[in-house]
Amino acid sequence: MKPTPTDTQTRKTPILIPVLILIPLIALGFYIGPNLLDTTPPALTVSGLDRDQHYRGSLTLRITATDENPGLASLTIKVDDALPTALNFDDDEPISWTLPTASFADGPHTFSLMAVDRSFHRNQTQHTFPFYIDNTPPTLQVPPETLHVGQGKTLALFLQTDEPLSEVTGELFNKAIAFYPTDLKNLYRSFMGISVTYPIEKYPLTVTATDLAGNEGVKIFQIRVTKTSFARGGYITLSPQKQRIMMDKSKGREDNAKRGEAYAKADQESRQLWEGKFIRPTEGRLTSPFGKYREYNTGVRRHHYGTDIANVVGTPVYASNHGIVTLAEKLHIYGNAVILNHGQGVSTSYNHLSEIHVTAGERVEKGERIGLMGATGQATGSHLHWGMVVKGVAVAPEEWTERDFSSLASVGLSLPNGGQR
Ligand SMILES: [Zn+2]
Repeated sequence: MKPTPTDTQTRKTPILIPVLILIPLIALGFYIGPNLLDTTPPALTVSGLDRDQHYRGSLTLRITATDENPGLASLTIKVDDALPTALNFDDDEPISWTLPTASFADGPHTFSLMAVDRSFHRNQTQHTFPFYIDNTPPTLQVPPETLHVGQGKTLALFLQTDEPLSEVTGELFNKAIAFYPTDLKNLYRSFMGISVTYPIEKYPLTVTATDLAGNEGVKIFQIRVTKTSFARGGYITLSPQKQRIMMDKSKGREDNAKRGEAYAKADQESRQLWEGKFIRPTEGRLTSPFGKYREYNTGVRRHHYGTDIANVVGTPVYASNHGIVTLAEKLHIYGNAVILNHGQGVSTSYNHLSEIHVTAGERVEKGERIGLMGATGQATGSHLHWGMVVKGVAVAPEEWTERDFSSLASVGLSLPNGGQR
């Protein structure tokens, strides 16, 4: 077929028309495409605020909102029930925003953040942060009955707060006190040994407690040390060899260094390893009570820092309570000795044994046989010198057989507001 002149004209038109239509369509496509097809929401990050955390004072947040395609349309924040506030943003630049939480009421609050892009879908990303504001320091209470204690006794401190704590420390007799959580909510406990030689007076106990938001409460209590009448008398005649050991200070120092090391392990043990009341560790006659002021034929006069129970050599000696053996060896003055760590600063010792049946590091149960009674070391006859040390201070062990120091209720104490929330 031969083309006619008109064909030439009409042949140009079908090419030109699509081109003329396509150019704007392509241009439109470049605009519509990302806007219509984009289903990716903006990327949104917030630092300086974590969900369900406790805060105090003002909070400075860093907000980053980005949307690669087609870009960010709005960024709004909302605090509790207040109206949303639009934030000015510069793409990709982090925004610093201060939440004036110092003026917020204590309690739960919500912070929401929403970023919307410019697409037809109006893709959005929303983050909601429930959090707590606490601008009030914790209150600290100690049952008044627990604030006085006799010489040679154990001070059991029960500290109650009105909210959970992140940290609680104390100081008494220039020593740091560790408070340990109890089974009761917001109730902490600490034990201190009261030396038989502490003068009878009031001592300040400073407690510093920090709540979960970081508010610090400080309170000073007065601890009153009361007089304990210790028995006097008793003259101990040591053999010339034992007298030499007693007067050889280096032997005593050597023993005390080893014992001190063993007792320190109980201070570092935050778990309560013991359970309920302690038991008398052996059968026999009570020959010398704790605290008795005695004189030796060496001229030395001092309190007796243990409880003596006498019986024949070989009488079984049992662990007063559950614990970990921290010392099991022959000492100069204490003879064959065992020290048990019961945790939270509490140790018991068993001295002058004829045989030791445990090794250091071993775990023992209450009532488990740990050795046999004897007269090794500086002893005048077969007996057990049973000692108790709380935070490095010798105390009367009998008190722990009469009182269950484990819980507030079991020692017959009540807190001003009932003890439990
Ligand atoms: Zn003794």
